[in-house]
This record gives sequence, C-alpha cells and structure tokens, in this order.
Amino acid sequence: MREDSVTIDNGHLKLIGKACELIANSHTVVAFTGAGVSSESGISVFRGSGGIWQKFNPALYGNLPGLALVFILNPERIEAFVREAASAFAVAKPNSAHESIAKLEHAGFISGVITQNVDNLHREAGSLNIFEVHGNIFRARCLKCGAREDLPKRRLLENITTKRNSSLKRRELLRLLDKYTGRCACGGRRRPDIVMFGEPLPRGIFRRAMELAMKCDCIIAAGTSAIVYPAASIPEYAVRKGATLIEINPERTGLTPFARLWIPLRASVALGEIFKQLTGKANQRAGKARISAKA
Ligand code: NAD
Repeated sequence: MREDSVTIDNGHLKLIGKACELIANSHTVVAFTGAGVSSESGISVFRGSGGIWQKFNPALYGNLPGLALVFILNPERIEAFVREAASAFAVAKPNSAHESIAKLEHAGFISGVITQNVDNLHREAGSLNIFEVHGNIFRARCLKCGAREDLPKRRLLENITTKRNSSLKRRELLRLLDKYTGRCACGGRRRPDIVMFGEPLPRGIFRRAMELAMKCDCIIAAGTSAIVYPAASIPEYAVRKGATLIEINPERTGLTPFARLWIPLRASVALGEIFKQLTGKANQRAGKARISAKA
C-alpha cells in the first residue's frame, strides 16, 4: 500500500468534508464493502501484495472444481490453504472501518451495508442491516435440504487451524471439514455457506441488496476492486439510477471514473473521519438548537 495513503492531509480532509455533505444531504445512503475493509483486520485481499492469494492462485483455490482438483492431486496443499485462510478468518476482529460503518448506521446516516465479505466482521462490529451477497464462512448450509445454521467462530479455530505433526490424508481432511460444519438435523452433509467463483449468489439476498441499491441516492464503495461480478454491478446500477458514488480505496479501480468523490485513503481512516465529522456537525446543530430553545 502506498505510504501517502496512510497519512491524512488537508486535501483528504477537504474530500472527507465533501463526502459528509453528500451523505448528510442524501435520503438513503448505503455502504458497499469488499475485502479491503477487512485487510486491516488481518484478512488478505485477493489483489494485494503479501496476501495468501499470492501463494494460492484464486483462479484455482477460489472455486469448487479447482479445489477438488488440488484435493485429488495434492491434498497437502489443500490442507495448507485451508489452514492459512481459516486462521485469518478465525482470529480476525472488526477494525475501525467496520465499527464506523456500524456507528453510521446507528446514528441514522446510512441505511445498511451490502458486503462481498464472508468474514462476519460487519455483524461483529454491530451493523444491523447487512446483506452478505457472498455468504458467511461462520454459517453452514445443508447440501440436502438447504437449511442454514450459524456456527460458533471458535469452532473454526478448534477444528481447522490446529497444527498437527503430520499432514492429513484426504479422508481425514473431509472429516475435519465435516466436524467444522456438523451434520444437518435432516442428516444431510453441510458446507460453509459461502459463494465461490462460478457459483450463483443467494438469490433472495442479492435481490434485496439490489433493491436497496436501486433506491439509495448515495452509495459508499469501500475496499473493493469491483471486478467480481455480479456483486460488482451493485454500485454500477445504483449510479445508473442516479445515486452519487463515494469511493474509498487507496488505489484507483474500475469504479473510480463513476465516482463523484474518490478518497484515496484506507477505509479505517476515511470512515473514522467521516463519522467524526458527521457526528460533530450533528452535535453542533443539537447544541445550537438547545441554546435557542433556552433563549
Ligand atoms: P479485492 O481483493 O479484489 O480488492 C480489494 C480492494 O481493496 C483493492 O482495490 C485494494 O486497493 C483495496 N484495499 C486494500 N486495503 C484497503 C484498505 N485498508 N482500505 C480501503 N481499500 C483497501 O476484493 P473484492 O473487490 O472484495 O473482491 C474479492 C472477492 O473475494 C470478494 O468477492 C470477496 O467476497 C472475497 N474475499 C473476501 C474476503 C473477506 O471476507 N474478508 C477476503 C478476500 C476475498
């Protein structure tokens, strides 16, 4: 990440001031988040330096046929991948980007968050109206009846990430995954309820996320390269319907040309400052109202 994206200067403060104006003057504001928002919680982004995706090609490890192939040819690699990816998710805690989004919702500035992330961190941070269009790794889905159930986060730590002296055989690996997801009450096998490349999105959630995006008049896209479709079409549709796009990302993306404002900062810094300025202004207004009521 570029060094200049870390410090906040007057230029950034001006951009954030404008973003606050746009948010305060909008009726329905939605946050649309991607892996970048969780990178400061220790979960690698797909397209960044030093992430696990440099060791494990997402084109192979991000989809079921690819995973099945590696599982057959090289189960030790799968074990290493599952352990490394799962460890990051299992220990991650929300950072101030997640917390600011939750606080903005509680303060009435945003209506909800549409996320491509599967890490549950928006929920842990206190967001209420969440649309997880790629699912949630801490939830299991039954392959037989489709029933879903939340899984305790510690179960991922206990079952998947524990280091063993020797590598696991294929059957042991499956048993471990089975232990993590557990069996469904109907007796069916379960899998983590996440969307992998090439799989369809959960229809109901995607439709409701799209409806919210279509009715919003301001959308804040934070920490996403916006290249994974169809989720990436959500901010595009919002803009086509007339919404103002505010983008928060240290790097330019395919969305940047459509953005009214591009804030080249880390999500934790930009969103923290947005919350501070918006609530500062709201408190000032409340203070003035109290003074004039007393006068
Ligand atoms: P991506 O990896 O394609 O892009 C991440 C973007 O975040 C980049 O544009 C990068 O410049 C930006 N970024 C990095 N650090 C940032 C920071 N601190 N603040 C703001 N921006 C920052 O991610 P994507 O667009 O979400 O698409 C990848 C897909 O992989 C998604 O579908 C997502 O579900 C999945 N994924 C999820 C997680 C997770 O759940 N945490 C992690 C990796 C990948």
